[in-house]
Amino acid sequence: MPDCLFCKILEGRIPARIIHQDELAVAFEDINPQAPTHVLVIPRKHIASLDEAVPDDAALIGHLHLLAARIAADRKITRGYRTLFNNGPMSGQSVFHLHLHVLGGRPMTWPPG
Ligand code: AMP
Ligand code: ZN
Repeated sequence: MPDCLFCKILEGRIPARIIHQDELAVAFEDINPQAPTHVLVIPRKHIASLDEAVPDDAALIGHLHLLAARIAADRKITRGYRTLFNNGPMSGQSVFHLHLHVLGGRPMTWPPG
């Protein structure tokens, strides 16, 4: 998707601190971290949000979550971390390429804002 920030990161046209990549997904540090660990896990496939996901994307979306768990284990934050997708402008979604936030390393409050 030409004007998509995260597609540009996938193509190496915008730098990012990439911590994992495989054939389906890439994980990198959020540029404006909201917790000591704040990683974004994104599919290589451009999907704007969960609303655009189709049944064939089910395994891919599961893969993103399993990667999040692996990152949490690597960072030793399994005592309490949060994974989330923002979907739609009212949720605060600002980049319309699906991305799983992985946040942890501090107490996580509920409800989120
Ligand atoms: P959202 O608000 O759910 O769409 O999340 C977008 C996230 O992308 C925010 O947490 C931003 O800090 C993050 N972000 C924006 N630009 C970049 C970038 N160039 N590299 C890494 N993270 C970014
Ligand atoms: Zn994209």
